Amino acid sequence: MLLSLYYILLHVVTLNKMIQLAQASAFDTDGPEFGATFDNQKVFALGEATKHDICVSTSSPRVVSGTSRVGDVTGGGICHAYAHDGRCVSLFKTLYTNKCSHQCTYCSNATCSNRQQTYSYTPHELCRVMLHLYKGNYVEGLFLSSGVGKDEDVTMEEMIEAIRLLREHYNFAGYIHLKILPGTDKDLISRAMSYADRVSINIEVPFSSYMDEMSPTKDFKRDIIARQRMVQSLMKRQELPAGQTTQLVIGGAGENDVEIFRTMIREYEKLGLKRVYYSAFTPVEGTVLEDTPIQPLWREHRLYQVDWLYRLYHLRSHEIFEAFTDDGYLMNRDPKVVIAQKMLGDPLDPTTASYEELLRVPGIGPISASRIVSVRKSTHISTRMQLQALGVVIKRACPYISLGGWQDSLLDRWMT
Ligand code: SF4
Repeated sequence: MLLSLYYILLHVVTLNKMIQLAQASAFDTDGPEFGATFDNQKVFALGEATKHDICVSTSSPRVVSGTSRVGDVTGGGICHAYAHDGRCVSLFKTLYTNKCSHQCTYCSNATCSNRQQTYSYTPHELCRVMLHLYKGNYVEGLFLSSGVGKDEDVTMEEMIEAIRLLREHYNFAGYIHLKILPGTDKDLISRAMSYADRVSINIEVPFSSYMDEMSPTKDFKRDIIARQRMVQSLMKRQELPAGQTTQLVIGGAGENDVEIFRTMIREYEKLGLKRVYYSAFTPVEGTVLEDTPIQPLWREHRLYQVDWLYRLYHLRSHEIFEAFTDDGYLMNRDPKVVIAQKMLGDPLDPTTASYEELLRVPGIGPISASRIVSVRKSTHISTRMQLQALGVVIKRACPYISLGGWQDSLLDRWMT
């Protein structure tokens, strides 16, 4: 209860309000850096500019962005993430600078957009803002992204210096997620990894051809994929507790869901990523793509479900391909149900089915499948009530199972 109240408070505190509260809790006694006030406009602008950077996957399609409603994680400035030990931590989410020399057609920091005023932190300044927010108890960690400035290595050096100061000078032991800028030098990546818990490089699109269209100044293979490989190879001898992640923008370049799914497999299997995040394309005013249609949030949601089927349910890729239409898109239906309707034959007996077979039944997840396998060693499962008590969603599962000689009509599979 206390925990949920805490998160409710976090999400109703707007970025502006949070800055004012942090400002009011100045820690004059902690040293000269803490006595000074900071530039609210800069903190707001660089925080707000991160709203398209994803580090969580828990938003609901029902939440309308920009309304400061409880549960809205689409705003900038604060977000939450699951740390490597499973704890949910609140993060100060900010850009280091909104200056950028690239020409990404969807981004308000690009040189080809109608850019707003530009702002940059210095390493000490960023530490000061972060520590005010931390000591005021508004955040527990940092999510630091950035435009590349004039040169990716110069900006990356400053970002690394900021997190080095946090760790070594201010003894900050909390969670840090650091973006690696496209094209960053390998030595800098290694230094970044020595201070961060997680690093990420946004691939944004599935292939080079889409990147040529969306971000003509970036080289997909050299600036993105080769840097992901560097992180992967450095991880063989260097610790990175929360691993490497990435993000894809969905629908901005006209790519279909099968292409995104194939990219997801490559990122997990070939590059060893911990997580892939998906962000439905939203046009930003003043950018080249400002008139491109917004993508429905349900598309992002269905891709997350496919990701879960692959990563946590361990469905094989050929099974998951059944969820896509002939033209390569997901429908706005639970992909697990679509796959089950096409692939599951006779109803399964949960008293004898294997763990892998149970996992393929809608309404049964990894936890309920494990419980069924464990409980049936000592107890005969013969009723729906028993299955329900083990966590099975009966209405969804029943058309696919046979229990004690009873089973629903196969037609019921099309009613769920
Ligand atoms: S590199 Fe990043 S910050 Fe720069 S224009 Fe592209 S998306 Fe925007």
